[in-house]
Amino acid sequence: MNRPFSGKEVETFFARLAKMDPEPRSELSYRNAFTLLVAVVLSAQATDKGVNKATEKLFPIVDTPEKMVKLGEAGLIEYIKTIGLFRNKAKNVIALSQALIDKHASEVPRDRAALEALPGVGRKTANVVLNVAFQEPTIAVDTHIFRVGNRTGLAPGKNPLKVELALEKCVPPKFKLHAHHWLILLGRYTCVARKPHCPTCVVRDLCRYPEKTQEGGAAKPAATRPKKKTVRKPAAKRTRAAHRGS
Ligand code: SF4
Repeated sequence: MNRPFSGKEVETFFARLAKMDPEPRSELSYRNAFTLLVAVVLSAQATDKGVNKATEKLFPIVDTPEKMVKLGEAGLIEYIKTIGLFRNKAKNVIALSQALIDKHASEVPRDRAALEALPGVGRKTANVVLNVAFQEPTIAVDTHIFRVGNRTGLAPGKNPLKVELALEKCVPPKFKLHAHHWLILLGRYTCVARKPHCPTCVVRDLCRYPEKTQEGGAAKPAATRPKKKTVRKPAAKRTRAAHRGS
């Protein structure tokens, strides 16, 4: 078993990721809390890029639960049929839109239990929505974070919940809000599944992975990502819009 991280090492680990990208953002495109929720539901077992491609025509015209219910399952399928499991996802999105209208005055609830009670919404989706839409310090463990948590030895665990709880315990409060995004970026662009880019990884000296790659392997700077051309609202505006769900 690897030597556990000391508090100082965890602090250094996140301070380095924070330096690379002080204000990390979700790579999913969305317009408000509702479209964020829909995008996260659609992203299960799909790439953010694939979801963004499908929603770039959908969200400009369908950005409320009412409009989504009006569009209907068959109408929604036309927009999302390039995404895996689209039939089931369409069914869930229409059902969750109806539930938001019926039980939450068409607003996305800022409450884990209420979110997880929505069709197609599990713990990971609830964590993303709480973190991105409501700035709650939750850490949603996806495939990238699960891999990074285990490989580095920062938060080992046999399943996503164990990794999430380990991260909850070790991440210093000041880094918790953005920890989710920093770890995703590290896993998505540097600590990739097949051949991690260890030679240029900013946490290489802290990482306990015994099979680090050597010089000569493909390398990209840690926690960086390709520039995308999405137009973003200013942070304050976006936050307010997300709270309003409009
Ligand atoms: S050193 Fe390698 S294995 Fe460790 S976190 Fe960085 S990329 Fe991943």
